[in-house]
Amino acid sequence: MEPHEDIAKVLFSEEDIRTRVAEMGKELASLYETKQPLVLGVLSGSFVFMADLVRSIQPVPTGLHVDFARARSYAGKSTLSSGEVDVIMGKLPVRGRHVILVEDIVDTGNTTKHLIKGLMESGAETCALVALLNKKCRRVTDVGVSLEGFECPDEFVVGYGLDFNEEYRSLPYVGVLKPQCYQ
Ligand code: 5GP
Ligand code: MG
Ligand code: MG
Repeated sequence: MEPHEDIAKVLFSEEDIRTRVAEMGKELASLYETKQPLVLGVLSGSFVFMADLVRSIQPVPTGLHVDFARARSYAGKSTLSSGEVDVIMGKLPVRGRHVILVEDIVDTGNTTKHLIKGLMESGAETCALVALLNKKCRRVTDVGVSLEGFECPDEFVVGYGLDFNEEYRSLPYVGVLKPQCYQ
C-alpha cells in the first residue's frame, strides 16, 4: 500500500519495526526475568509501541505488570517541545519496583527527565528508559536511553502512535511529515 499522502518519506517500515521490537522484547525478557518489572507506557504517543513491545517480552517474566502514565509537553499545533511538562502518574504503586519506562520518542529529554525524577522520588527501585526512537542530536538534558529501537534523524516524524495535532497516530509505520502539513 502507498504511504499516506501527507508523508514525505517512510523512515521505519512496519517490517523494520516488527523485527526490532521483537529483538527488544527478547532483550527485556532476559534482563528482567526475575525482577517482576512494571512496564510503564507514557501516553499518548507510546500506545502502539507498548502494545507490540509487551507482547514481545517473551518468555514472560513472573509478576510483569503494565501501567500507563500521561505526559504532555507539546502545545497543540506545534512541532516544538514547550519545555513545560504536565504529568499524571500511573495507578500502580512504583515503590520498590523495577520500572521499564516506555516512550515513543526522546527528543530534548525534558519529558522523560521529569518522569524519571518523579518515579525515583516515588521509591522506584530502578528505572530504565526504553524508547522506540532516539533523537540524540536534539538532547538538552542528560537522560540516557537504556534501550532504543532506532536512532531518529532531526526531522518531525509521525505514525506508530506519534501525532501532529492528534492526527496520524494510526499509521502503521514511522514517517516524515511533509513540511506543508505543519507550516
Ligand atoms: P521531549 O520532552 O523529549 O522534547 O519530547 C518528548 C515528546 O515530544 C515525545 O513524547 C513526543 O510526544 C514529542 N515529540 C518529540 N519529537 C517528536 C517528533 O518528531 N514527532 C512527534 N510526533 N512527536 C515528537
Ligand atoms: Mg512520549
Ligand atoms: Mg504529540
